[in-house]
Amino acid sequence: TDAALEKIKETIKTKSVELLHLQFVDIEGILKHVTVTAEQLEDVAAGKMMFDGSSIKGFSAINNSDLYLQPDLSTFAVLPWTEEEGYAEARFLCSAVNPDGTLFEGDTRNVLKKTVDRAAEQGYTISVGPELEFFLFQTDENGNPTTELSDNGGYFEPSPKDLGERVRLEIYRALKAMGFTIEASHHEVAEGQHELSFKYADALGAADKATTYKWVVKTVARKYGLHATFMPKPVAGINGSGMHVNMSFFKGNENAFFDPSDELQLSKEAYHFIAGLLVSVKSFAAVTNPLVNSYKRLVPGYEAPCYLAWSASNRSALIRIPAKRGLATRVELRCPDPSSNPYLTFAVIASAGLNGIEKELEAPASINEDIFHMTEEQRASAGIDSLPGSLKEAVEALEAGEIGRETLGDHVYNEYVSLKKAEWDSYRLAVHSWEVENYHSKF
Ligand code: GLN
Ligand code: MG
Ligand code: MG
Ligand code: MG
Repeated sequence: TDAALEKIKETIKTKSVELLHLQFVDIEGILKHVTVTAEQLEDVAAGKMMFDGSSIKGFSAINNSDLYLQPDLSTFAVLPWTEEEGYAEARFLCSAVNPDGTLFEGDTRNVLKKTVDRAAEQGYTISVGPELEFFLFQTDENGNPTTELSDNGGYFEPSPKDLGERVRLEIYRALKAMGFTIEASHHEVAEGQHELSFKYADALGAADKATTYKWVVKTVARKYGLHATFMPKPVAGINGSGMHVNMSFFKGNENAFFDPSDELQLSKEAYHFIAGLLVSVKSFAAVTNPLVNSYKRLVPGYEAPCYLAWSASNRSALIRIPAKRGLATRVELRCPDPSSNPYLTFAVIASAGLNGIEKELEAPASINEDIFHMTEEQRASAGIDSLPGSLKEAVEALEAGEIGRETLGDHVYNEYVSLKKAEWDSYRLAVHSWEVENYHSKF
């Protein structure tokens, strides 16, 4: 890290970095940061920056709130949109640390680290490629988000239907400058919907990247007078936004999910991993699909899953095995959405998969027909269960299962459950425009 620190010092000099943002996320994965000057780098790197954890959602009680930020030097990045002649800003992603030097258990980045350690004990490293979709909305004269979409383009459509090309170009450039390898950029299926895909990384790196991506997309969109949202279903009747999670386990340099001798070229571990996800997905949905609104995306007809099945081809399935094999062999879980905390989302998925491998769970037969076009009876006889239909059901399943407490740890688990219960209650008590529309004049 001495070498890493020297390199950072050099960049600070050559790029004239004046300010450093020390970033971390709260329990919902919302980015926070405190800003210091570049002269403080030594103290910052030594983890001497203290902050008040009691004001961060899901962190600590007011009587036990002094926490420290330990920057992860590998996440140092100059912020391209701040650069001008003789001035720039940079950031670090950090982990929250207790005054005694131990990792703070309420920080979700530390939760994922624990899962990474658990995988390592079983001999695996976790590789993750998330795909985050988002919508662009117009803003009003005061710069506030409106509900007017930014364009009416569709899947892979070029300009002039796609009005997002310019902003996506700048997002691409910013992410690239911050160390991302961008694989593709395109208009998505729904009006105003977009996606830039980036190269997979180790689990922690991928969660850091997902967090950075959301921030960069929102920041650059704002410069163009647009509002970017990762809300899963912002508009009824059109596709929502997913965060498909591609995951594989490696043993050394070998992809542990690949076995050329198998019919589908998948290893035993891959099948156990799939089985582990299928067994636990209902109990971890409250993490991967955390909002009331998340469950409005998980309905038939919009390329989002709602039934528990896996397939090597079928995009209507919850779990798909993309065609690539060899080192790129992976399992794609399609239910998570980009409003979820990526640290927690990757932790519960990996941990469910590890359970599957540890217990050698058997994967059910794959389903290669279009599940959305099966009748309820056909699904029942094929033994196809469904995802929770609401946040309420999901939280009940989280409490009924073990994966949540086991993976999140007591602190985050308890905070998370009470947060989500309060969210459901607040929704339950509201009178929605649908009710007014349908009942107000009729009854
Ligand atoms: N938007 C779809 C979803 O909600 C995914 C569409 C796609 O990427 N093919 O998951
Ligand atoms: Mg994609
Ligand atoms: Mg997509
Ligand atoms: Mg996908």
